[in-house]
Amino acid sequence: MRFELTTTQQSIRNEVREFAEYEIEPRAIELDRQEVYPTDILDELGERRLTGLTLPEAYGGRGEGLVELALMIEELSAALMSVASTVGLHLGVATVVERFGTEEQRDEFLPEMAAFDTVGALGLSEANAGSNKLEMETTAERDGNEWVLDGHKQWVTNFLDADYVLTYAKSGPDRDEPHNISAFLVPTEEFEVEEVWETLGARSVKSPRVSLDDVRVPEDRLVGDEGEGYVQRRAVHSGVNVPARGVGIARAALEDTVAYTSAREQYGQHIGDFQGVRWTVGEMAERVDAARLLTLRAADRAERGHDVVREFSMAKINATQAAVDNATDAIQLHGGMGYTTEHHVERYLRDAKLLTIAGGPNEGHENTLADAVFERHST
Ligand SMILES: Cc1cc2nc3c(=O)[nH]c(=O)nc-3n(C[C@H](O)[C@H](O)[C@H](O)COP(=O)(O)OP(=O)(O)OC[C@H]3O[C@@H](n4cnc5c(N)ncnc54)[C@H](O)[C@@H]3O)c2cc1C
Repeated sequence: MRFELTTTQQSIRNEVREFAEYEIEPRAIELDRQEVYPTDILDELGERRLTGLTLPEAYGGRGEGLVELALMIEELSAALMSVASTVGLHLGVATVVERFGTEEQRDEFLPEMAAFDTVGALGLSEANAGSNKLEMETTAERDGNEWVLDGHKQWVTNFLDADYVLTYAKSGPDRDEPHNISAFLVPTEEFEVEEVWETLGARSVKSPRVSLDDVRVPEDRLVGDEGEGYVQRRAVHSGVNVPARGVGIARAALEDTVAYTSAREQYGQHIGDFQGVRWTVGEMAERVDAARLLTLRAADRAERGHDVVREFSMAKINATQAAVDNATDAIQLHGGMGYTTEHHVERYLRDAKLLTIAGGPNEGHENTLADAVFERHST
């Protein structure tokens, strides 16, 4: 077993790292503080087809896999988590179209999505369907060759700048669960914006609550098989973007801390020379490596078609907690300056906290992981 990236993987990582370092990171504090949407950054990612990284080249994408996705998302998140979440969620929507859409849908949407000219957002969660999406209340009823959608979606990241929401709705009776949920591409203009929350972190890309009032969409906007939307979605592993975002924040917190503690002096020495500080920094590095290894393992195994329930939950729990822990340590080791918005580290903590909740709270993943462990060791 070789723990080395391929030449292509290294070159993707280097390309995104360079872009993130020069084009995103220097503006991250201001974008977050002013809550400004990073339009030009996302446009440039579109021009480079990084917004189509995992889509087939035939559709204008770069034809890469989940490991490459995790590497790209780590780099973007190390600079500004909101950019990484926008790209990760958009690619997740595009991947559902690619995997389960019709040939016509692929032709219509994927080239535009690869270039970020058509932007996708995910409409899965609702007010009463958070951890348990099966409790969603949005309905889809067939009427001739149209579908009528009624209900709401909550926390639709990047809704305000998206073109389509991949909207999950109940199209069958509860007794058929989970085979009673279908997915539809609904134009954002069909929704009404009900609430745009102020949030602790992730401030430059909003995640509002939006509603649908008997909105009619043509039959060809159904993506995948009727009733199988929720089940088919689980076969798509673009959710690796959540732990990858955690790795990015954890790494950025480590790097900033090494730089700061190597320069700052107290008691006539660099604070990075105190043993207590050195041990904390060592532990931070350990968290980054463990989080990255678990994330890349989950991505690699998913790419090879293995069952990855256990691996994904481990990566999600570990990497998102690593981000919170490293951000907390980074603030502590920056002292008072870490508590100001002059430095990135306070934002790392605010952004990291989202990751232990979004993508399903870590407690739910602990349950999934434990179930998988018991199943494996009792058979
Ligand atoms: C900023 C932001 C962006 C988001 N973006 C999107 C998006 O683009 N698309 C989308 O569809 N969704 C999105 N989400 C929704 C996100 O996936 C949900 O918030 C998440 O699944 C949790 O649902 P909930 O908030 O309703 O929490 P709840 O389900 O109400 O859970 C609350 C808390 O209860 C505890 N808990 C829950 N279940 C268990 C359990 N089984 N065992 C023990 N404790 C438990 C946990 O501590 C959990 O945090 C986003 C959320 C936020 C905050």
